[in-house]
Amino acid sequence: MAYDFCVVGGGIVGLATAMALLERNPGASLVLLEKEGALATHQTGHNSGVIHSGIYYAPGSLKADLCKRGERATKEFCAAHGIPFVTCGKTLVATNALELVRLEGLVTRARENGIEAERLDQSELRRREPNITGLGALFVPSTAIVDYREVCAAMARVIQAAGAEIVLGAEVTAIRASAHDVVVGAGARSWTAGRLVACAGLQSDRLARLAGLPVTHQIVPFRGEYYRLPSAKNDIIRSLIYPVPDPDLPFLGIHLTRMIDGGVTVGPNAVLGLSREGYRKFAVSLRDVAQYLSFPGLWRVLARYRKSARAELIGSLLKSAYLRECRKYCPILTVSDLLPYTAGIRAQAVTRDGALVHDFLFLESERMLHVCNAPSPAATSAIPIGGRIAAALDG
Ligand SMILES: Cc1cc2nc3c(=O)[nH]c(=O)nc-3n(C[C@H](O)[C@H](O)[C@H](O)COP(=O)(O)OP(=O)(O)OC[C@H]3O[C@@H](n4cnc5c(N)ncnc54)[C@H](O)[C@@H]3O)c2cc1C
Repeated sequence: MAYDFCVVGGGIVGLATAMALLERNPGASLVLLEKEGALATHQTGHNSGVIHSGIYYAPGSLKADLCKRGERATKEFCAAHGIPFVTCGKTLVATNALELVRLEGLVTRARENGIEAERLDQSELRRREPNITGLGALFVPSTAIVDYREVCAAMARVIQAAGAEIVLGAEVTAIRASAHDVVVGAGARSWTAGRLVACAGLQSDRLARLAGLPVTHQIVPFRGEYYRLPSAKNDIIRSLIYPVPDPDLPFLGIHLTRMIDGGVTVGPNAVLGLSREGYRKFAVSLRDVAQYLSFPGLWRVLARYRKSARAELIGSLLKSAYLRECRKYCPILTVSDLLPYTAGIRAQAVTRDGALVHDFLFLESERMLHVCNAPSPAATSAIPIGGRIAAALDG
């Protein structure tokens, strides 16, 4: 059978794209191929579970627009499908003079982005978050928490109800596009579709290369390591607590995150991973490491961000150094509070000249669209991203 659409990848971007394609093209046939035995197995199922408001991003940028629309769309989707989410807000805490200056920049940015945010002085911060200390803070009430695996399960039900097929355990190993269609192979099986959208996260550069597209960047895995607090400390915070980010490296900064199951996680950090999909601490894939070591962009990134890379590595190796970062704003934490928790791995696109790609990156040909970079907050933004992709395929 020939399908109208084939989507590769059962993370939130692939599922949201499938949902948008079927909404825009009622009655179309669609097959979604996922290599693992379950949906949301990689980035989507190993993230902080935050529905972001999007205050960091440059006003008018695609990222700001998608995040703001995504925050609303995700909450509406959850409400419509009975998925629990909690709008607990996020408190950005400044712990030194430089962060206070950056915090003022975020106050302006929130205003420019039309996002409600409340500036808190030291005593107001202390009143609202008695276990948190800082020189000042910014409270963003719209930030929420959710389990993105549940969001994906509901998306899967929506697309299946619209007639889509979801095939698990189908690792795409061949893609051949012609003037009329695209043939996608997974071992001995194959599917033919009019259009293909690949949302393969950590494997996205490999899929694009497999499809014969000109790929100049490379995906580099950055581990995000978390700890979990003991359940006796579940009430340590009321909102999500974030340090004020460095605008050059907005994804750095260990935060305290309330989770939808009632627990609290600490993290993530960001260290160069030794495997794209190995979640254990020292999991190594020789193929993955050899590939990025031979990529000049990686060496340039490491040289450019030497200081941060060293600090993140030390934090990863020494629990005491990791703890030091959290104690800057939550001094009551002790080493024994940091209990093991699964890591996540970010698919970070890096260019040959050593730039970290902070925005979405798409590679297109007549019959294909490959999502080659979908960085945080892509879980929040997935619904409008899917809409944009579906619209682009119409054009
Ligand atoms: C540690 C961490 C914390 C984060 N926190 C947040 C947060 O709080 N809020 C937020 O909005 N965002 C967050 N993000 C970002 C967000 O999780 C990702 O941007 C988003 O999940 C990307 O979704 P995806 O569908 O593109 O990728 P993925 O979820 O990685 O899905 C890609 C899928 O493609 C499949 N695949 C790959 N190759 C093949 C193949 N050859 N054949 C078939 N299938 C294939 C994979 O198995 C996988 O299921 C975080 C990310 C990380 C890593």
